[in-house]
Amino acid sequence: MIKENSKVILSVRNLNANVEGTTILKGVNLEVKAGEIHAIMGRNGSGKSTFAKILAGHPDYEITAGEIIFHGENILDLEPEERALKGIFLAFQYPLEIPGVSNLDFLRVAYNSRRKHSGQEELDAFDFEDLVAEKLDVVKMNASFLERSVNEGFSGGEKKRNEILQMALLEPSLAILDETDSGLDIDALKIVANGVNQLANPDNATVMITHYQRLLNYIEPDYIHVMQTGKILMSGGKELALELEEKGYDFLDNEALVEVGV
Ligand code: ADP
Ligand code: MG
Repeated sequence: MIKENSKVILSVRNLNANVEGTTILKGVNLEVKAGEIHAIMGRNGSGKSTFAKILAGHPDYEITAGEIIFHGENILDLEPEERALKGIFLAFQYPLEIPGVSNLDFLRVAYNSRRKHSGQEELDAFDFEDLVAEKLDVVKMNASFLERSVNEGFSGGEKKRNEILQMALLEPSLAILDETDSGLDIDALKIVANGVNQLANPDNATVMITHYQRLLNYIEPDYIHVMQTGKILMSGGKELALELEEKGYDFLDNEALVEVGV
């Protein structure tokens, strides 16, 4: 899907970030264009989730250097809500449960604020139910999940599918999926991967963070990046995942450091 002249959706330059006085990200560079799927891999603790949360605007992290440009605009000072309205979507590694808030209401409020922001009329409850019924199909979810509290008592796989349902409704221009494959059995993995593939189009982009090569059997990334100690140490095509699978992350310690300034 890569087109030479496609527009840049996200450009991260020399991003440095601290949490509680500890430096976690140490100069992350990443450029994502429309129509692309990127995978970020790396050991546990290498900074992948931190990076994802910072893109979405999580308040716990202090940005000490660098910039995040989304559709040509520096978004560092924007609140998470504003980033979401502009089209950044983060599917969490550990989706939150929101007791007392029905999944349907939650989805409708999120969906309608996005519509309002883009100058469209809000959908009423009936029209929204029709729309959501269509989207449930993408993730093969039963309508009964709409009546339950957001993620409350959902299994790991159901939570991850619910994240993809949100994504299907919100149609973000940048979807960031943090370990959406973890904890999924093979059927759920295929459903999630199918959903992601169906939603990817030439105008949007996906950044998926994954620990395992197996997801990449179902979603074919255009680029793979390996994060190590808060930096993107290496970037390549999908063959890089196979190399990682074969050699394990340990080989990174021995490889010559390949700096990829994007
Ligand atoms: P990954 O997703 O690659 O496994 P994380 O981004 O979750 O890695 O974590 C990177 C490092 O940052 C870890 O050492 C983790 O303990 C630390 N870290 C992340 N968030 C916090 C936080 N809120 N407070 C303290 N340390 C944190
Ligand atoms: Mg993580």
